Parts: sequence; structure tokens; C-alpha cells
Amino acid sequence: MGSDKMVYFFGGSEADGDGSMKNTLGGKGANLAEMCSLGIPVPAGFTIPTDICTYYYDHGRQYPPALDDQIKGALKRVEAVMGREFGSTSNPLLLSVRSGARQSMPGMMETVLNIGLTSKTLPALIQQTGNERFAYDAYRRLITMYSDVVMEKAAGIEPEEDKGIRTQLEHILDAKKEQRGIKFDKDLTTEDLKDIVAQYKAKVKEVLGTEFPDDEWAQLKGGINAVFASWMGKRAQDYRRLEGIPAKWGTAVNVQAMVFGNMGEKSATGVAFSRNPSTGENAFYGEWLVDAQGEDVVAGIRTPNPLRSADITDEHRKLGIESLEEANPAVYAELDAIRVRLEKHYKDMQDVEFTIENGVLWMLQTRVGKRNGVSAVRMAVEMLKEGLIDEETAIMRVKPSQLNELLLPMIDPVEEKNHKPLTEGLPAGPGGAVGKLVFSPTRAEEQASGGDPIILARIETSPEDVAGMKAASGILTSRGGMTSHAALVARGWGKCCIVGASEMRINYAERTMTIGDKTFKEGDFVTLNGTKGTIYEGKLKTLEANPDANENYKTLMSLADKKRVLKVRTNSDTGEDASRARRLGAEGIGLCRTEHMFFEEDRIPAIRKLILTDTHEGRQEALAKLLPLQRKDFEELFEAMAGFQVTIRLLDPPLHEFLPPEDASEEAKKEVADQMGISVKELSKRIHALHENNPMLGHRGCRLGNSMPEITEMQARAIFEAAANITKKGKTIIPEVMVPLVGHVNELKNQKKHIQRMAKLVMAEMDVEFEYQIGTMIELPRACVTAGHIAEEAEFFSFGTNDLTQTTFGFSRDDIGSFLPNYLENKILENDPFASIDQEGVGQLVRMAAISARAKKHDFKLGICGEHGGDPDSVVFFHRVGLNYVSCSPFRVPIARLAAAQAALKHEHGGLTNPFAAGKDAAKNLGEKVRDIFSVLTGKH
Ligand code: PEP
Ligand code: MG
Repeated sequence: MGSDKMVYFFGGSEADGDGSMKNTLGGKGANLAEMCSLGIPVPAGFTIPTDICTYYYDHGRQYPPALDDQIKGALKRVEAVMGREFGSTSNPLLLSVRSGARQSMPGMMETVLNIGLTSKTLPALIQQTGNERFAYDAYRRLITMYSDVVMEKAAGIEPEEDKGIRTQLEHILDAKKEQRGIKFDKDLTTEDLKDIVAQYKAKVKEVLGTEFPDDEWAQLKGGINAVFASWMGKRAQDYRRLEGIPAKWGTAVNVQAMVFGNMGEKSATGVAFSRNPSTGENAFYGEWLVDAQGEDVVAGIRTPNPLRSADITDEHRKLGIESLEEANPAVYAELDAIRVRLEKHYKDMQDVEFTIENGVLWMLQTRVGKRNGVSAVRMAVEMLKEGLIDEETAIMRVKPSQLNELLLPMIDPVEEKNHKPLTEGLPAGPGGAVGKLVFSPTRAEEQASGGDPIILARIETSPEDVAGMKAASGILTSRGGMTSHAALVARGWGKCCIVGASEMRINYAERTMTIGDKTFKEGDFVTLNGTKGTIYEGKLKTLEANPDANENYKTLMSLADKKRVLKVRTNSDTGEDASRARRLGAEGIGLCRTEHMFFEEDRIPAIRKLILTDTHEGRQEALAKLLPLQRKDFEELFEAMAGFQVTIRLLDPPLHEFLPPEDASEEAKKEVADQMGISVKELSKRIHALHENNPMLGHRGCRLGNSMPEITEMQARAIFEAAANITKKGKTIIPEVMVPLVGHVNELKNQKKHIQRMAKLVMAEMDVEFEYQIGTMIELPRACVTAGHIAEEAEFFSFGTNDLTQTTFGFSRDDIGSFLPNYLENKILENDPFASIDQEGVGQLVRMAAISARAKKHDFKLGICGEHGGDPDSVVFFHRVGLNYVSCSPFRVPIARLAAAQAALKHEHGGLTNPFAAGKDAAKNLGEKVRDIFSVLTGKH
């Protein structure tokens, strides 16, 4: 025990603790103390701090000897403030006992209400309230909660299913209601309740073998004990494991005077938010119920009433429902004044619980309220304008991923709650989509042209499927991971996509999809939630997005842009995507995957010719066809991004991706063979020759350009001719030619030679000068380890963290869906490493390469264009490493901008403290260099 203080009192306008003491008093206890100190009416009580929980478990479930006396002392103060006495036979005080950890763990631990009701105090309560029915109802609730929580669960009794004491008591209640022919508890008479109480007591004795305790102190001790015991209950342990809450934190226990919202027509209970949590409007929002206890509001048995008259609808009027503002204007005004004070004090939206006992208002809880993305943005900006918070706080208030809700269509969360998912996959492309199922890209195009929204379901997708994928509203695959083809392409378009839904079986021949015992046919409707990865049967409602019309969003983004150090570029392959990304705030292109351009209908024949010819001349002929098309592609990109840098990557994928697969149907092969003017046999032979056992580690990346330099030359020429044309129009563009998959510096050196030769040629031919740069992707461990050498030959690096993750872990990026769910469930991995960078493994390679490169060239330009560029946690990491920019798909650009600003507010940018940065004195440089390299080697960073 750190101190001798074991109990913290609160009540009247006094409190031993305050709001800053969450670690000691738990969230609930700290806020109750804080509210008391603010003079807000809170039923008096005391908090037993979290370190008593730790003591209890460290000492074989024993308490410190002095605890009892301190509890008695605090209880005296509670009695004085409330004017009632615990155990009194004339004016009894009843207590609630509740848990309260540092971090909220909703529903995970136990609560017992009405402690102190015994055969002695019951008559006094009846006398005091003049309400016999109420007193018996309170007694019934005490017996239910206490026997379940204290006498059964905390005692470690594990009943068989449906044999728990709570269930058995509920049977008694149900039998009574049936016997009396009534539906609701509220219709039970006093006599009914008296009988129920007698039956309950007998049942407790029969099932648990002990009498229900008739002593107030025994009840209080039992309650406190049960809360501490529930910290190690299975439910709480599972929740902690999922949320990463350490067991040593412990829980606090709050013992508080009971106030009753169920004492009759002048009593009520309710919950409220200081601003509307679904719209963000600065308007009081909440619900209340006359003559009820807290659990009745949550249980949803009765329709709760709105607080404000403005929220009363015609439907409410029909049901005769009244607002609190109308029913009790004085209490409403008091509550409204409290909400204003709480917001001013906490400087954030509060979620409160309150009770009105015989017309007197009591606050039972306050905490920071949860909100959706749209309202988070609105509240942050409006609170800034109101002067409640500063700019930095406003930026930190919105989770970057919440911006998805403003950028993409969403499944209506209210409706989603009422539906059970059919199954789940990996959330590859956020947003929501509803549509008719089809199982082939061609059918997707046909059906979509009829105007129906389509969901394209495939085992996995390939580049040939893109037209069908584009036509679909959502994409679903049973295989693949977060950087599989489907995921990359869908994310680039801002399209909803779920991959690796491995419980789903697709039968292409029968055009069906089976999940469990349900089979869906082509044309059946399904709904995808790409943000969560959940799949639903039928049509769920979606909500449209329109960020351009949202002034609050624009304000927040401009605040973020002022603070960030990292630049944000986009991964785009077309002028259209690039223009969209510009509108979303991209500052250049970090990756143009040129191979995506080759799948357009007008060029796939030429690229196939290129692959199928053996001769240099044949290849030249095919390339000559591709050149003008590529030049046009690049001109469009440069136009859309004029004034910014544009990174164009040379051809990367294995060539077989451009041909039908080996097991394609004869028909499919014949179509291509006819197109190429060769026989099916010849085509099959070539496809077979290109077959690789491990294509991701095969003939791809710069290995293609090194074995067929004419491809590199054609692409370089197209890039430079496009740059020349744009320059002639008087616009500035700095093309960055990027060589993929370099593992050895000589691979880059060789490619560089061809690129430089083309630049010279084009400048001379077109009589124009322009700047350009040559750099490389860093996406292999060997490239990271030898980054110093490679940097000597490059003008920039862009980390390809998709391939770097694949090659560092040795996890196939296309097959991770088969084992990742198991890894996540069993906590072998915390996150999908293809979605959020593995900081201690892959991230350290990035860091090491960055340090080595900047050791060679102080201002060396470093970016990242793997999928991690749009992941908020990864963005923070790249900021700390000191990269110059992140690059991500267009719809993630705003997310990366906000994440980069938050990173800048929380952490120093690695580049500014880089040991090799100019301006530091040499000795310090050396010292930091040694330390940094040491930390890279030892993994201590
Ligand atoms: C990467 O590997 O991270 C990358 C951006 O390239 P691609 O995804 O096209 O392989
Ligand atoms: Mg790559």
C-alpha cells in the first residue's frame, strides 16, 4: 500500500479525491468526487481505491486490517450528509455498491443495489416513503442481485446452464405474472411482491444452502467483496485481454447512498448527453422514464421520453409521451445548467446518468461521451469556435479513421445493430455497399449496366477482373489479405471491399455462394460493411457521404494541414483518380503502378504481344504500340498533378498475370490465341514456360527491366515525352522514375543507365529541358540492410511496405487470410501486419534503411507507398522515423493528413532530430549515430 488512506469520501460539496485520480479511484469514482467538488448534487458515498484490489489479490484475498474502520468512518460522513442512518429502524440509509476501473469496462463487473434492506429496516422504509409496494419491490431487486452476484458468482459456484439462482428467481416472477394474467412487473401488487419476496428467500436457501443475510453489515461486506472478486471473473478477464488492460490495475469500489427514481410519479431516472452524439449539434439530448430505475431505461421495455420538447415527435404525442422540459420545468432547468457546467469544466461532451427522487435531482455519473465520426468533427470545430478548446485539442479530438464516415457511404448503424452478420472477412475497403450478388466480372458489368447495384463475389480477383470490379458497388472474396489484388484495387477507388471471408464457399459453375447452411444465388441481395468486414443477408439501409458540403470537415482539415510535418501523396494510376486525390488534399503522387494501365482494353493486346514474342524486333513492334498510349496516360497524370512531384514506377508484376491462367478454359485461351494470331498450343506452351512456383519471388520487379531493357526504355521514354509536352505548355512537373524490387545496388545501376539515356535522348529530340529524378522502391530486406549503398545511386527511396512485410515475415500477402484470423484470435499477432506496420520488425528495417541513407546524403528524400501509408498508427510511426511523406489511396488522403497532424502534435519528427541532419556539431552527430545504430541493432528504440 502506497498510503494509509484506504477510503475516499465524497458528498455535500466535499470530496477527498478529484477528477485527476482515475488511476486510484477509477473513472467513475474520480468523476463523482469531481462533481461533488463542483457543488453538483451527487448522492454521498465513498470510493475504495484500486490499490486495495491489488492488496486483496496479493494477500490471498485478505484486506488491510485498517480498512473496516475507515469504511465505518466514511459511512458516518455519508449518513451525516444524507440525514439517514445505515441499519436504522426509523430512517434507514440504503447503499449501492458498484465497480469502477481506470478504463470503462461496460457490463463486465458487478453491481448490487439496495444494500441495507433487512427485515428490521424494511418497515422503516415503508414508513419513511409511505409506499409499501416500492419497499417490497426494492427488497425483491436486492435479493435477486445479491444472491446472484455475491452468494453465487463471488462464492465461485458454477451452476449448470439455466440453473443459476437469478434464472430460478426469474421463473418465480414469471410464474406469478402468469398466474395473475399480467405482462409487466409494474402491474404486480404489493401482495404479489410480498409473496414473491417470501418465495425468493426460500429459493435462495434451497439452492444455495444459506439464508439470505439479514444483517446490513454482512450485506455491505459481501457486496464489496463481490466487486473485487468480479475483477478476476472470466468475463472481466476476457475483456481485459481483448482491450489490453493489465490485471494489475485492479478495480475501485464505489459505495454510494441510494436515491430512487421509482418512488412514484414525482420520481424518474434518465441518461443524457451534453450535445447530440449522433449529429454533434450543441443541443441537450437525452431520455428519461417516470417511476423507474436505471436498468429500466437500458432494458428498453418501456419507450423512454425525450428530455427536450424540441425532440418530441408526433409519434410521442400519440403515445402521450411528455418531455422533461414540459413535465418538470424546474428540474429540467437545473439539469440543463448542470450540463453547461460539466461541459465547461471537462471541456468535452459528457454522458450523464441522473435520478429524480420525489422531485429532487441527483447526478449519478458523468463521463466523456462516445460519438460517431460526423459528430466528432462537428463538436471539435464548434467547441473551438466557442472558445472551449484550442486548435491542438480540436485536432486530437477526432480519430482519423472516423473520417471514413464523412468520405464514404456507410451502413446505417442503427439498422445494423438489429442484424446478425452471416460471416466476417478482413475489412479491406471501408464504407458500406448493398447489391445483388454476381460471381463473374462479366456478369457484374452486364448487370450493372442495367442500373442495379452489384456485389461481385469471387474466390480471389486478378487484374483481368478490374472492369467487373469497377462496375460493382462492393467486392467480396473468400481468399486474400489486406494487400491482395482485390484489396489494393478497391481501396484505390474508395470502394467497399471484404477479402478472405474464408467461411464462404463460391461455386462458379452453379453461380452460388454458401455460408454455413445458407446458399445464395446470383441476384440475391447482400450487404457489406467494409469498415468492419461483416456480411449481411438482404438489404440494409446506407447513408450517403458528401464531404465537400461539410464546412466543419474543411475547417478541421485546414487546421491539421497547418500542424503536420509529413507530406501526404496519393497512389493513383489515372488522371481521374489523381484529380480526385487532389481534391482530397494529396500533394503529389507517391506511386503510379504502371501495370494497371496495361489492363485497359486498348493495350492488353500489345502487352500480350510483347510477352509472346521471342525476338527483339517483335518486342520493339509491340512496344511502339504501347508508347503513345503510355505517354497519354502520363500526360493526364501530370496535368492533374501539375506543380507537384509524380512518382512513376516501372513495370512490376510477373508477366504471366497478363495471360490467361494455366487452368483457364479452352475458350478463354482460344480467344487470346486468335487475338495474337497464334495457335492455342503455342499459347499454352508460352503460358507453361512463364509458370513459376513462387511468382511473388520470381521474374518480376526490376528483374523484368534488367532482362528486357527495351521495356524500361519504352516506359522511360513515355514518361519523359509526357514531361516534355507538359513543360512546353508552361507547367512544372518533376517526374520521379522509380525502379521496383531492387535488392542489390547493381540492379538499380543497370536500370538507371537506360533511364538516363532516354532522358538525354528525349530532351535533345524535343528540345526542352526538365528536371527529373531516379529512385527506387525499398521493399526487400536486403535493400534495407544495404540501403547506404543503394542511396548512393538513388535520389529517393519509397518504402514498399507491402512486399517488405511479405518478405520480412515470409507471409504471402495473397494467402494470409487462411491463417490470420487464427493468429489474431489467439493473440499470436496483435494486428494484421499488412494493414498496420509491424513496428518492431518491418518498421525497424525501414528505420535502419532511413538512417543509412541519410548517413550518405543528409537530405535524402524518403517516402512510403505501401498500404500502411493510409493507416493512422503507421503514419505516426513514419513521422517518428523521419520520412518526408506517406502515400496512400485517394480516399485515405484526409485520414493520413489528420493522422500526420496528430503525430506532429504528439511526437518529434525523426528527420528533425536525425543524427545526420545538417547543422548539428560533429561530436554530437557521432554520439547519436552510434546510439541510433546500436538501438537499431538491439531493437531498443
Ligand atoms: C509495396 O510492395 O508496398 C508496393 C507499394 O508495391 P505493390 O503493392 O504494387 O507490390
Ligand atoms: Mg511491391
